Amino acid sequence: MRIAVIGAGMAGVAAAQALASDGHEVTVVERRASVAEETSFAPAGIAAAALAAPWLPPPGRLQALSGGADEPARLHGTGAAFASPTLFGKGDGPGTARRDQRAQALHRLLALGVERIDALARDLGLDFERGDGLLLTLPDAACAAQAEVAIAWLQQLGDTAQWADAARQRQVEPGRQVADDAPRAVWLPNARIGNTREWTQLLRAHAAHLGVRFLFQHEVVEITAGPRPTLRLSAANEPAGELAFDAVVVCAAMESARLLAPLGVKLPWRPIRGCSVTVAQHVREAAPDSGPRAALLDVRSGLSISRLGARVRVAGAHESVAASAAPGTPPTRKSLQPLYDAVDESFPGAVNWQQAQVWQATRAALADGLPAVGASGVPGIWLDAGHAHHGWALSQAAAGLLCTMIAGEAAPAEAGALAPQRLR
Ligand SMILES: Cc1cc2nc3c(=O)[nH]c(=O)nc-3n(C[C@H](O)[C@H](O)[C@H](O)COP(=O)(O)OP(=O)(O)OC[C@H]3O[C@@H](n4cnc5c(N)ncnc54)[C@H](O)[C@@H]3O)c2cc1C
Repeated sequence: MRIAVIGAGMAGVAAAQALASDGHEVTVVERRASVAEETSFAPAGIAAAALAAPWLPPPGRLQALSGGADEPARLHGTGAAFASPTLFGKGDGPGTARRDQRAQALHRLLALGVERIDALARDLGLDFERGDGLLLTLPDAACAAQAEVAIAWLQQLGDTAQWADAARQRQVEPGRQVADDAPRAVWLPNARIGNTREWTQLLRAHAAHLGVRFLFQHEVVEITAGPRPTLRLSAANEPAGELAFDAVVVCAAMESARLLAPLGVKLPWRPIRGCSVTVAQHVREAAPDSGPRAALLDVRSGLSISRLGARVRVAGAHESVAASAAPGTPPTRKSLQPLYDAVDESFPGAVNWQQAQVWQATRAALADGLPAVGASGVPGIWLDAGHAHHGWALSQAAAGLLCTMIAGEAAPAEAGALAPQRLR
């Protein structure tokens, strides 16, 4: 089939590479000059199935656990950065079983995504900045109590999450300041940490090798559906043109909603803004482990610190914003300060802030926290968007599912949880 993919973030490049591996003739249309220039540019780079577990209780129960006031705005803005769909819904009411089903589907999809990341890295020899393992820090008693629930939930699914006392925390992250009486943390050995921009660039090179054509600096301005769907393109120094395909896969993140609205497909996003700061780590022969070895994530704030080669990336300041929020607004010093503080407190003197690279992006989260992947309901148009907080692993899982569905084969059960039809 002749297939167009709109967007060359991690989702579009993953889909293009997988579809081309299946023998399709693929064209990727991207408005930017290269791949991974928008939301996929500088995320934390964590892929872990265990993050689907209920590390944060649904709003309402947090109050009971902490004995204090619930902070729904902060919880949504920060915990939502990585936490499971259990967050999207209130209390322990009748919706609990459905939330648990969604969380289990997310867990299977993330595990599938991590498997594909490992297989591609191994089979294609992708050499990118990467590490293994994630230390989840639990800042208070409420989070520690909920972690018992999350670990039991994971054990039922056969996943591994280990309690880490101060000694174990020092063992996995020797550079981190840990007091002897530090609260217990959770170690996720199966997590993958990686430079996702570099990953996407390497995957693009492989896709091009398979014959994928990349049309950079071309913007899709309109999609016409039908048995031969058409894209109307605009490019800086060229007259507007039209290209026809057998199928179109929309991987345009937030922009997918605008492109699909005229076709009657609605994507009710919840935009979540976040930022990261990437900075060179001081290399000292006497203290090679002055920074993180892999990654840490604070379950309450959603703030993470990850190691990417010779650099450290701290990501966080996640907040729900209005859909109309200006995309290019730089982060304020106030929103960045907790990021600087987190690194300075955990790894004092490990980095040189003079050379920091600051980045901010808005990602799209659907109300149930899962992406929309599959047939859109409009002939010839497929969806692969809304990867929210787990784009690295989910874009790989989605690429595999799309190949199966476009080939007309039966998709695994978890594909049902992502069906765009659920949004109607
Ligand atoms: C602070 C922060 C931390 C994060 N941490 C993690 C993490 O640790 N792990 C993880 O897995 N995820 C993380 N994420 C989320 C992850 O970054 C996203 O899920 C992922 O980048 C989404 O990829 P995408 O390809 O769907 O979107 P994008 O990368 O935004 O790609 C969409 C592409 O479509 C193009 N496009 C849009 N409209 C058009 C058009 N009309 N014509 C042509 N091209 C178009 C855009 O230019 C863009 O290149 C984080 C995000 C943030 C902001």
